[in-house]
Amino acid sequence: LEPLYSFMIRARVPAGISTPDQWLVFDRLADQYGSGTLKLTTRQAFQWHGILKRDLKKTIQGIHSTLMDTIAACGDVNRNVMATSNEGLSPMVPEVAAFAKTISDHLLPRTSAYHEIWLDKQLLAGGEKDEEPIYGKTYLPRKFKIALAIPPYNDTDVFTNDIGLIAIGEGDRLVGFNVAVGGGMGMTFGMESTYPRLADVIGYVSKGDALKLVEEIVKIQRDYGNRENRKLSRFKYTLDRLGTEEFKQLLEQRSGIRLESTRAYQFTQNGDVFGWKQGLHQRWFLGLFVEHGRVKDVGSYRLKTALRELARIKVCDFRLTGNQGLVLGKIEEADKVKVEKILTQYGVWPHDGLSGLRKNAIACVALNTCTLAFAEAERYLPTLIGKIEQILSENDLTNDDILIRMTGCPNGCGRPFLGEIGLVGRALGRYNLYLGAGFSGERLNTLYKEMLDEEGILQELSELIPRYAEERTPGERFGDFVIRKGIVASKPEVKNIG
Ligand code: SF4
Repeated sequence: LEPLYSFMIRARVPAGISTPDQWLVFDRLADQYGSGTLKLTTRQAFQWHGILKRDLKKTIQGIHSTLMDTIAACGDVNRNVMATSNEGLSPMVPEVAAFAKTISDHLLPRTSAYHEIWLDKQLLAGGEKDEEPIYGKTYLPRKFKIALAIPPYNDTDVFTNDIGLIAIGEGDRLVGFNVAVGGGMGMTFGMESTYPRLADVIGYVSKGDALKLVEEIVKIQRDYGNRENRKLSRFKYTLDRLGTEEFKQLLEQRSGIRLESTRAYQFTQNGDVFGWKQGLHQRWFLGLFVEHGRVKDVGSYRLKTALRELARIKVCDFRLTGNQGLVLGKIEEADKVKVEKILTQYGVWPHDGLSGLRKNAIACVALNTCTLAFAEAERYLPTLIGKIEQILSENDLTNDDILIRMTGCPNGCGRPFLGEIGLVGRALGRYNLYLGAGFSGERLNTLYKEMLDEEGILQELSELIPRYAEERTPGERFGDFVIRKGIVASKPEVKNIG
């Protein structure tokens, strides 16, 4: 008898935008083959957990029937391309999201193996086409990540990507991007040559040249990346080995594109924006809180059912955010009431009573589905937040936005090194506590204490939070406060050499 293997499947969704019909199929696949829940990831992708080996093909074929796929959602290629998806935040969102899809399509591997294996398109070997035009015979040394953001919202954590494109507009029109290179969160405990790194801004490119530039950066990583040690094979290490200035010269020489000086931009936050926002053509967008991206029904809180109902009546599309949240999009004025009614009926709306800490929390899946996890994250952080909320409440800070992020290991899927409070799993029930990241995602946090259990975490925070309440300057963020007070040393802000 074969063991009952189960798998995680991830669908690639550039800019996180999906239709009601796609949502309905994904919802059904979760019930039919998965754990009965959908996970919205920190890269705006869908994940299904608990898919038994015998159901893999049926699930992938189900995803494919919606015109989505799982190609390049994993692997040593370019992954899901992220972009701000809430059109209520900027008139440039449709164009920027469309460009995310263009990049995603352009960098897709051309192999037919996926279709042969999963979609029964015959030929299972010997039918390889010409060499991959971008990836060559050996693909990339490691995964590659790209995100786009539209200031002042850094909701895709653009500086944590191998390539970050910061949209620059003139009026409401997108004209180009500031280009940031070499971001990445992952590190390995006990291996000092590995580290989280924020991308460096190297200059500005017009939107007409941006795709060519992106392709050339990918090709440089293909040609110069470390293929001997996977722990050192991400593009950030290639960049540090080459030097950012030298890399920029190489990029300009290979691409034939001269980068202009970095254009002015300012990010003010990297969390989601909740509630109603009006976008183009008088359509409405509703930012919804989804705790750690897990779409499920629990007691009277029936999020999964509510979203299925909304998909059935087709009053909105479904836009995943980079913070595991969801935006219900393109809602006509007349349908706003219907949307609110359904969300209220199933206990999802309004969001009253959510603390600023909970709204700004991210947790990766960790135990019991991620094999790399040392500790809990998604299943534990809601409880821990409840205990921290008591301390916040005693200090009148319930409504203050504070970024908290927890992961089960230092691989960094939940971008913990950008939490004003970052918790990274070391062992079962034990976490390293990091403090002092910037609220707009432009400064990493710093290790404060190691191997803390819950009591230790709460002990530290019950000393720091009252001090923050008492001694902060007007409008000062928690991450900035712990640095000003010398509680942790500051890490440098994002570097601009453009
Ligand atoms: Fe798994 Fe680590 Fe990623 Fe969490 S951060 S999902 S534990 S690999």
